[in-house]
Amino acid sequence: MKIPPGKQPDPMSAPRYMDIPTFMRAPHIENPSDCDIAMIGIPYDGAVTNRPGARHGPREIRNSSSMMRSIHPVSRINPYQQCRIGDAGDVPFTNVYDVEKAHKNIEDFIHLWTSSNTAILAAGGDHSVSLPILRALGCNEPVGLIHIDAHTDTWDDFLGTNYSHGAPFRRAVEEGLIDPKRTVQIGIRGAQNASVGWDYSESVGMRVIFMEEVLDLGVQAVIKEAREIIGPSRAYISFDIDSIDPAFAPGTGTPEVGGFTSREALSLVRGFDGLNIAGADVVEVSPPWDPTGMTALVGASMMYELLCILATARGLGTN
Ligand code: MN
Ligand code: MN
Repeated sequence: MKIPPGKQPDPMSAPRYMDIPTFMRAPHIENPSDCDIAMIGIPYDGAVTNRPGARHGPREIRNSSSMMRSIHPVSRINPYQQCRIGDAGDVPFTNVYDVEKAHKNIEDFIHLWTSSNTAILAAGGDHSVSLPILRALGCNEPVGLIHIDAHTDTWDDFLGTNYSHGAPFRRAVEEGLIDPKRTVQIGIRGAQNASVGWDYSESVGMRVIFMEEVLDLGVQAVIKEAREIIGPSRAYISFDIDSIDPAFAPGTGTPEVGGFTSREALSLVRGFDGLNIAGADVVEVSPPWDPTGMTALVGASMMYELLCILATARGLGTN
């Protein structure tokens, strides 16, 4: 599809399976001033603690995202009518064999866009990529965080690095990038060999909603409490695909049974519409573990939900 920069395509002008796949079939944008929301691929999985493969996530999500359409079935939001939305391509890496240098590549590229007041919707990549995104986004003042995941990702150093995909939100607190008292972690589950991550989250004042409590409260009550915790100030949403049960999303590095259905996850994310969301990510889609492609489709669907929320926030003038 040939689209002039900054001009949204007519999604009906060609069959959805045609042309070079960008996220949601949005135009490929190179200049931050050409769009309000930039979708960015971060094909990096050098910080996983177990099964790799999330480096292939952006490409497969782009492919599956050609299935996405424009008008939201519940809110009737059409993000493409509200905003200029583009695919900014992938983070250009100059170093993928050193975690901290790779993270610097990510931070520098994301900062190009955030410094132009463009909202960010990223596709990972392992969960370590959220830290350099937050370094770009939260560099002036800490943001709130809605973190949907089976794991708190607030562990400490692991086998020689402080920056594994099990630690980004501990580091983000230490670096003053997120406000732990405006952080809610939803869907946490699975046994651990040590409780340091759970303990850290609770010790700094994060609200940790384990999956057992989600079941007791129900999704709507979780949404209500999370909205109260986040309040009117800027916030970020980080969505780890392993929050969803592996029955629906098996293609991920550290699956945990007993997770959200894909329907529950859609409802949960929709519940954050109208908050001041400055950016979001979907991480840990690992295509080599995803033989049916189902996980990439779920990942693309979650990105579409987040895109609608970012468009609302942009329309309200909040992101
Ligand atoms: Mn995670
Ligand atoms: Mn996880």
